[in-house]
Amino acid sequence: MNRHKTSQELFAEALKVLPGGVNSPVRAFRAVDMAPRFIARANGPYIYDVEGRGYIDYVCSWGPMILGHNHPVIREAVERAVKDGLSFGAPTEREVEIAQLMVELVPNIDMVRMVNSGTEAVMSAIRLARGATGRDKIIKFEGCYHGHSDCLLVGAGSSALAGGHPTSAGVPQDVVRHTLTAQFNDLDSVERLLEANRGEVACVIVEPVAANMGVVNPAPGFLSGLRTLCDKYGALLVFDEVITGFRLALGGAQAYFGVRADIVTFGKIIGGGMPVGAYCARRELMEEVAPCGPVYQAGTLSGNPVAMAAGLAQLSWLKSHPEIYSMIEEKALWLAREFRALAENHGVAVSINQIGSLLSPFFTPSSVSTFVDAKGSDVGMYARYFAGMLERGVYLAPAQFEAMFLSAAHTEELLEHTRVAADEVFAAL
Ligand SMILES: *Cc1c(COP(=O)(O)O)cnc(C)c1O
Repeated sequence: MNRHKTSQELFAEALKVLPGGVNSPVRAFRAVDMAPRFIARANGPYIYDVEGRGYIDYVCSWGPMILGHNHPVIREAVERAVKDGLSFGAPTEREVEIAQLMVELVPNIDMVRMVNSGTEAVMSAIRLARGATGRDKIIKFEGCYHGHSDCLLVGAGSSALAGGHPTSAGVPQDVVRHTLTAQFNDLDSVERLLEANRGEVACVIVEPVAANMGVVNPAPGFLSGLRTLCDKYGALLVFDEVITGFRLALGGAQAYFGVRADIVTFGKIIGGGMPVGAYCARRELMEEVAPCGPVYQAGTLSGNPVAMAAGLAQLSWLKSHPEIYSMIEEKALWLAREFRALAENHGVAVSINQIGSLLSPFFTPSSVSTFVDAKGSDVGMYARYFAGMLERGVYLAPAQFEAMFLSAAHTEELLEHTRVAADEVFAAL
């Protein structure tokens, strides 16, 4: 048998055939100035690199693995689906079932269109908002990430931010001139834009919990304030729930905060680990979409039977085990509390934001409630923290401006292991 290649060897080969050695920038570990670990497999709360080292995984594939990796119910659903063929380019029963389930669980939506990624979901939601209102302008928030489509790569968060390129080359100025940028948790900044562009703004799009500048909770009244402003100015409110959907609660952020959105986008969790996205709204809006209406959007592999099987299995499991939500929230709350105590013991300036099963330690002495606050973090210190935790078997997001994700598979024992690791790492910061 051949000797297995090491992460280092694989990365050297990858750099020759993949830009930066990866297929998505954050995986390259550049924000922490390290070489990535190549992953061979994952199970429950653990991922294992090609060297065979196991890590407690707090990335969870950036959110989808809310039940932990390789969950038997999802794996078996996928195995059954695979036996019947991988793709037909024709309607299938599971597409109807998953849409029915989503409509049942998510408030204020009557219809669903499945796509293949979060990027596609948001891009299509924006087209729908523009098509339905006959308006061109959109308002997004600085530091919020909505995928890599042209008009949303303005002031984008996540790895677009960590890479120091807040926007992208290759996006024509003409395409982004309709994208207006407001400040998260600052309603005045939104109202000023709506007022200055009266009758021209199709939608306000927001991550209801900003999770791509690190985790920043919406201030009390911020989301309901957006609802009020959108109603006042005739703009649609789009919740990008690619992270928060089926994570904050079964009904997502709309249910969690009790605020109604007009269009909701999903990704990550709804695919159970397969590439799936969706946009959803009430019937009148969704019937603007082709073939019912004039807003064109299509997808050769959309609603793919194997992907639908994974998504349906995951959402069904969550529906029948709603206690998971309080469990994972409890765990995140515990970690946040323990990390705060450790930081205080060791005199480390860190501010921990937590909501539901999401959390972020920001290496800054001030509390973080805006994008400007988040940007004030010491990314060098984050990199040292990341390296120290990795060495102790804890796999975190390789960048300050990302979230830590909890899953149902993280046991108390593993949380304690994480606390002990953080204790040692904070002591050495
Ligand atoms: C990840 C993410 C996206 C993009 O989803 P992809 O599947 O990576 O295209 C969009 N919006 C939010 C809020 C995200 O976190």
